[in-house]
Amino acid sequence: MRNSTAPVSPKEATTNVVYKFSCQEGRCDGSSIYIGRTSTTLRRRMQSHRNQGSIFQHFTDIHIMKPPLQKLLE
Ligand SMILES: [Zn+2]
Repeated sequence: MRNSTAPVSPKEATTNVVYKFSCQEGRCDGSSIYIGRTSTTLRRRMQSHRNQGSIFQHFTDIHIMKPPLQKLLE
């Protein structure tokens, strides 16, 4: 505890990470899996996923909704 203003979640602030997203929404049972790699922070990458890319495409096609940011971060 050196700095009380440090980012709240180290996980979300990590750079150069490989991430896996498996969709548990609706009739998906985790069989729709997306794996990606990002050199920016995970939060920034997931925010872009909310508006474009294969996860966004999956959500808009199958679930008729935008991927919730919280779900992506889980
Ligand atoms: Zn799905």
